[in-house]
Amino acid sequence: MYRLIPAFFFAIYQRQIRNCCFLFSALSLSACQTTEYDLIIRQVMIYDGSGSPAFRGDVAISDDTIAAVGDLSRAKAHSIIDGNNLALAPGFIDTHSHHDRGLFEAPDALAVVSQGVTTIIVGQDGSSYYPLKKFFEHLADSPVAVNVGSYCGHNSLRDLVMGKDFKRTATPDEIRKMEVMLREDLEAGALGLSTGLEYDPGIYSGRDEVLALAKALQPFNGRYVSHLRSEDRYFWDAVDEIITIGRSAKVPVQISHFKLAMRSLWGKADSALHILDAARRDDINISADIYPYPYWSSDVRVLFPARNFSDEKEAAFILTEVTTADGIIFSDYEPAPDYNGKSLSEVARLENLSPEKMLIKVVKELEVCDEKKGNCSGSIVATSMREDDIVKLMKWGLANICSDGSSTGLHPRGSGAFTRILSNYVRETRALSLEEAIHKMTALSAENLGINERGQIKPGFFADMVLFDPATVKDNATIANPQAISSGIKRVWVNGVEVFNTNSTTKRYPGRVLLRSTP
Ligand SMILES: [Zn+2]
Repeated sequence: MYRLIPAFFFAIYQRQIRNCCFLFSALSLSACQTTEYDLIIRQVMIYDGSGSPAFRGDVAISDDTIAAVGDLSRAKAHSIIDGNNLALAPGFIDTHSHHDRGLFEAPDALAVVSQGVTTIIVGQDGSSYYPLKKFFEHLADSPVAVNVGSYCGHNSLRDLVMGKDFKRTATPDEIRKMEVMLREDLEAGALGLSTGLEYDPGIYSGRDEVLALAKALQPFNGRYVSHLRSEDRYFWDAVDEIITIGRSAKVPVQISHFKLAMRSLWGKADSALHILDAARRDDINISADIYPYPYWSSDVRVLFPARNFSDEKEAAFILTEVTTADGIIFSDYEPAPDYNGKSLSEVARLENLSPEKMLIKVVKELEVCDEKKGNCSGSIVATSMREDDIVKLMKWGLANICSDGSSTGLHPRGSGAFTRILSNYVRETRALSLEEAIHKMTALSAENLGINERGQIKPGFFADMVLFDPATVKDNATIANPQAISSGIKRVWVNGVEVFNTNSTTKRYPGRVLLRSTP
């Protein structure tokens, strides 16, 4: 951290010197023609992140900053790249990422940069490193290819304060202890607080506990992001909870990986958006992020919110209302790894059980495994969402794109979420225009995070950029091959340094720690 701060101020000082040149540039292009840029990318279609129509031009970089945008045919640079009329966009920002898993072991972050992503925000779903100051110091000492910011996770605080005695609401004293730790993380630069209210131990918290912590964010200009208390059975209550938090704590709130994950919720995207729009009219700064798949990935136990794991009626309800026996695929089931890649119906047939009984059995075996080894993985991928809802939620003006994925994860979103937007939703189904899609992956994401000077191709902004071919860009990751890297992403720069070029990382690590902007 102490090493980071002087470097950070030095960067601001340098940026101000160069900004004088931007000012001259605005008045007359010739004023800066003696400048020799570090790099010019010529002849590209510039999608600047604002959502405005793309335009043909050149972009110059000096050091870590975008120095000029426009016709730079007479400008000089140490190095010049012919962009061949490909698309140049701001580097994509993943507002809900788990790519910190294994990041220090593989700092080139191939799964991330091969999608054009240059910034990841971790500490999601209530789970973060503690204290964040240490994590930020580690990142500054062992930099990685991409920029990293983090939220402070409620579940992590709850774990530290309540330990094994977590199946209850917290006492006022325990809430105060969590508040102290949250403030410490905010002082270190956390973007805000994340909750994972569908998971242990957060599921046992009351609204008052979450609200007290959210209120502590306000003086810090912090934000509240939430994996809602329910994405299926109690969805409407959960939406009410996050709106109430936004209203009472007076902080920006964001719904993480927005979805309607239950049969009876299908077709209700308009109703959900109507509620969010009404809240915004009421001055509540609510937004959402979303990933482009009809299936999610989590621990199988999340299907039982009452944790009534042996209730056969509940199992039947889950398999008709929340997902189906064909729709559940085991991805990392520790008690019986041979289940991995198979559906619940296949496994039930093999074991000669009904799907309901099989679901109860897999959870029971997981609990036994937990008792023996502790923390056994029960990862599944489950289909619960409908495509028309995904498109409606994604098109909402305040919804930005996220992956919710990780580099080693078994859901294809970790390697393909952003390129899937460009291939499936822009090129194939035309649900989004390319300008709109890029806006939702860059400038809107930065706005929803409160991050300045990233997410646009604009003089003075950091040079995080991606050069790609809109005609061929494609996600290749699937449930069967979740870590296949994407095609069509040509080159990626982070803070002016190239980190990816034609299917390979460059093994350079220019990523910075992104700390919360002060009010
Ligand atoms: Zn989540």
